Amino acid sequence: MTPSLPESPILRPTAPLIDPFQRPIQYLRVSVTDRCDFRCTYCMAEHMTFLPKKELLTLEELDRLCSAFIGLGVEKLRVTGGEPLVRKGIMTFFEAMSRHLESGALRELTLTTNGSQLAKFAQPLADVGVKRINVSLDTLDDAKFATITRWGRLPQVLTGIEAARAAGLRVKINVVALKGFNEDELFPIVDWCAAEGHDLTFIEVMPMGDMSEEARLDQYWPLKDLRARLAERFTLTDLAERTGGPARYVRLEETGQKIGFITPLTHNFCESCNRVRLTCTGELYMCLGQEDMADLRAPLRASSDDAVVQDAIRAAITRKPKGHDFDYSRQKVAGQMSRHMSHTGG
Ligand code: SAM
Ligand code: SF4
Repeated sequence: MTPSLPESPILRPTAPLIDPFQRPIQYLRVSVTDRCDFRCTYCMAEHMTFLPKKELLTLEELDRLCSAFIGLGVEKLRVTGGEPLVRKGIMTFFEAMSRHLESGALRELTLTTNGSQLAKFAQPLADVGVKRINVSLDTLDDAKFATITRWGRLPQVLTGIEAARAAGLRVKINVVALKGFNEDELFPIVDWCAAEGHDLTFIEVMPMGDMSEEARLDQYWPLKDLRARLAERFTLTDLAERTGGPARYVRLEETGQKIGFITPLTHNFCESCNRVRLTCTGELYMCLGQEDMADLRAPLRASSDDAVVQDAIRAAITRKPKGHDFDYSRQKVAGQMSRHMSHTGG
């Protein structure tokens, strides 16, 4: 049996979190580890130096911090990484967060995963109230999968996705659009998701980490081009539906599928950004594409009073910038972040 965490009380909000651009902040993405069992080429270097374990927030500290955010009106919590399911004892954290689902303070508890550990974790996740998960999968070809993830094996992920479905979890497949890599799989991936009943979202590759400018531009497949390819076979209807995030959706009239596009490069949707990102060391990034961050670990460790932490969160939100500066036009990479995506939590 997994040990349970001592409960930290929720402080009721005195005022919701609103940033300087009048955007309500209701969505927290928390990276619970920078480690991963894959080494996706667009995300990590092959030889990564990971943080020493002592730098990481403990599961109890993660609980306290996330509960402080929930007390300030955060309604949606996405657990990510690195690979969240390789963090030791991670189910203890999910179990702890499920009390906020039960109380109604949290509307959704979810995660983004590479799927490698789902065979083991799908059912326990469903048991604590997770309803939907995002699984990152850029190809359905065994050899290409091994190439792009360096260390991953496709059958293991497909078994994991199957386990998720068997556990009653709704699965959304996230595909990073990569020129010269998965262009030829656009229709097979769409068809597979339709046949399996999975939602599907495409993502433009972002300039995070230490990849050279040339390599980054080489792999960039703008989603406006992907969309034009889709329109050669399907009738696309734009949907007004928004989830408060950067995704825009279309319906394929022929299949009824809903497809999401996350287009930080070709179309910047920062004006409606409702999220902030917490790293596994307690750094709060108010924007994925800016360097500014607030250290929440220091106030967390300095005082057992959660009000101190909430004050630090409020102060950080007043610094949320208008948006990122990613730009590949003019054949140059602008807005590059040296941080890897696995640090901030994609
Ligand atoms: N390991 C988990 C996974 O792969 O789903 C969670 C963390 S991963 C950093 C989260 C998401 O970020 C994945 O969908 C991944 O494809 C995406 N990602 C990583 N690096 C990226 C980049 N440079 N541009 C766009 N998406 C990226
Ligand atoms: Fe790991 Fe996810 Fe990054 Fe791939 S995208 S290396 S699975 S953290």
